[in-house]
Formats: sequence, C-alpha cells, structure tokens
Amino acid sequence: MSNSDDDSLRPATKLVQGGRRPEWTGDPRLGGGVVNPPVWRASTILYDNIADLEARGHATHDKLYYGRRGTPTVWALADALTQMEPGAEGTLLYPSGVAANSAGLLALLSPGDHLLMVDSAYEPTRAFCDGMLARMGVRTTYYDPLIGADITGLIEPATKLIFLESPGSLTFEVQDIPAITAVARERGVLTMLDNTWATPLLFPALAHGVDVTMMSLTKYIGGHSDAMMGSLTATRAVWPRLRSAAYQLGQAVSPDDCALMLRGLRTLDVRMARHGDNGLTIANWLAGRPEVGRVLHPARPGDRGHAIWSRDFGGASGLFGFTLKSADEAARTRFLDALEHFGIGFSWGGYESLVVPSNPQTIRTVVAWTDPDPLVRLSIGLEDPADLIADLTRGFAAL
Ligand SMILES: *Cc1c(COP(=O)(O)O)cnc(C)c1O
Repeated sequence: MSNSDDDSLRPATKLVQGGRRPEWTGDPRLGGGVVNPPVWRASTILYDNIADLEARGHATHDKLYYGRRGTPTVWALADALTQMEPGAEGTLLYPSGVAANSAGLLALLSPGDHLLMVDSAYEPTRAFCDGMLARMGVRTTYYDPLIGADITGLIEPATKLIFLESPGSLTFEVQDIPAITAVARERGVLTMLDNTWATPLLFPALAHGVDVTMMSLTKYIGGHSDAMMGSLTATRAVWPRLRSAAYQLGQAVSPDDCALMLRGLRTLDVRMARHGDNGLTIANWLAGRPEVGRVLHPARPGDRGHAIWSRDFGGASGLFGFTLKSADEAARTRFLDALEHFGIGFSWGGYESLVVPSNPQTIRTVVAWTDPDPLVRLSIGLEDPADLIADLTRGFAAL
C-alpha cells in the first residue's frame, strides 16, 4: 500500500495507472505482465515453511497472509483509490457503502462520545446513528447542512466527530466543508465526509481538511450497476484506527468485485464528464418547463448551493432532483410510470438513467422539508440527452 504523496500525476492519469504495480500484474519468473491486476481468489495462503509463516504474520497487509487481509486484486483497488486522494495514507474496502459508513463511525466513536451528523445525510446513515450508535451510548445531534462555521456552537466537550455529506443525496444542499473542517481542526474534532456524489475527481476531500472520506463505490466507481462496495480513505493520523477496527470487524471484499470496481475506475474521468454534461442539460431543460417547481442542482446559477459548489467542486455528477409544481403523489406516480428510458430503481451512478420518488419530509429532524410539491430524483446516465428529454416530455404528458 502506498500513500498518495506522489502528486505529480494528474487525476485522469492516476485513474489509468493506479494499482497497476508490477508485482501485482506480473511474475518475474514468467517474464512480462498483464495490464490488469488478475483476480486472486483466496482464503488459504500456502507458506514455504514455518519460518515463512511466522515472518508473514508480522508483515504489513500487502503481503499474502490470509484471504481476509486481501490479495493483490484487493490491494490494487485500495491503492488506486488512495492515489486519487491527495493527502491520503490508505484506503479500506467494505462490502457496501453502508458498511463503510458504519465501520468508520464505530472506529472513531466510543460510549459517552457525541457526534454531529448532517440533517441531509443518507437515510441508512441516520438509522445507524439512531440505532446501533445510540444503543452503544453515543449521542447524535443533527445539524443544518447550511450551518457553516456556526457549527462551533454545537461542539461539546464530548464531541468527537462531525459527519458531512455534500451535496445531500436527496435534497442537494452544498455544505461549506472548508469552514466546517477549519472549525473542527481548531476544536480538536475529527471530520468524516460521505463523498459519493463527487468522488475525489470532483472534490478531493482530504485537501479540503476532511480526515476520513467515504464513498459508496457501488455508484460512480463501479459505474455499471452490478457490484456493491464501499471505501474509507484517511489521513495518516486516523488511518491506523480505521485499519484496526476493520480487522476486528472482519470486513472483507470479494476480489471479483474489486476487479469490477477497477474496471469502472479506469473510465471514471470520461463517464463523470458525460454524466455531468447530460445532467446539466436535462436540469436546464427541466427548469424551463411549466410543470416543474424547483430544480435542485448546484451547478445551476441561482441554486442555493451554487456559490460554494463553484468555489469547491471541479464539476458535477449526474444526480439531482426537481419538484413537480402543484402536483400530488398520484400525479407524480403517473409521471414516473410513463417514463420508458428511466429505470425505476434505487442506487445511482450507473451508465443507465434512473428515477425515484423521494420524500425528505419524513426523514428530516432539524430543518423541516416544507416544499409541498412532490420531489423526484434523477440519476442521469450516458444516453443521448435528447432521448431522455423526449422521455420526460412523455412523463409530463401523463401528469
Ligand atoms: C448509496 C449510498 C450509500 C450506501 O451505499 P451502498 O453501497 O448502497 O451501501 C451511502 N451514501 C450515499 C450518499 C449513497 O447514495
């Protein structure tokens, strides 16, 4: 595992080269090597002799030891993700994004600790705080995603962690991450960000002061809607705590899934650019439609998050929302059911467009979601946007 100190390469090049170390793609006895790290499936690792077994038990985790500690396929993905994140010491992989979030919270919080959690967080993240963390004696206070530096007023002596998600994946508020991480550093509090929407390509989190950055790789990294995984990437100071917790929790991922994630990662730069362009084209078109109330897309001037988004982000992904003006839930259902090119389904970030109804008013506890118009979330894929616009026009006709 190498940290990301070599920042001489640009992100698109790192995506192509990351994890393809000679020792993971070739064998000196055979000569040469292959382009992609092969899939090493393993539980048992065989040792030459007992001295070898004893030596490797003490080795760092990029030596073959036992399947749960990973194989070169797993290390290659972790290494490639670390390379993408300037300031990172290492990356740990988990069976899903939810598992990564839960593992990070468990690693950094103890009974009696206090957590500040953004009110716009992904719903299962909240469920973990209100469920298992509460049972363990960790208190959670939810905060307004737009709080910025005023978060200082919510920090208590017991506060150990501030959790951020930006933009919120249902309601798309953009948080002032540099302001919050500056306060956190001053007050000795760690920060953890769910960076699934942007990925380090559009928002290098650690460079903005975050200590631990999480991604659901299921979304844009995999990019093809056929594998689940999550990651935590951390600074040198926090990394040992995460690694120790991961070993204790026994979180292991499949090398086959890592190979799929690596395949997705190689094209992330071109896919993201197209997701972003297509998404913005459709968001702008929606904003001109009489059936639409609000478009929630931070790359649009006038969006409440646009100023901070323009300052901090290198682009937009393809996930955003909009409301149906003066419609009721039945009309929203007619609209959704009339769409032919948008799959109705959870998750996002795949090459194919998806749509879901969303109801943030049932989730929020600090800042109520008061917009009476029903909300729709779109994940814009790689189709020609003209076909998607024709499809949405069909949906509006069914309203
Ligand atoms: C999907 C998602 C997750 C969870 O990821 P899974 O891989 O589905 O477990 C976490 N955060 C956000 C913002 C997500 O959209």
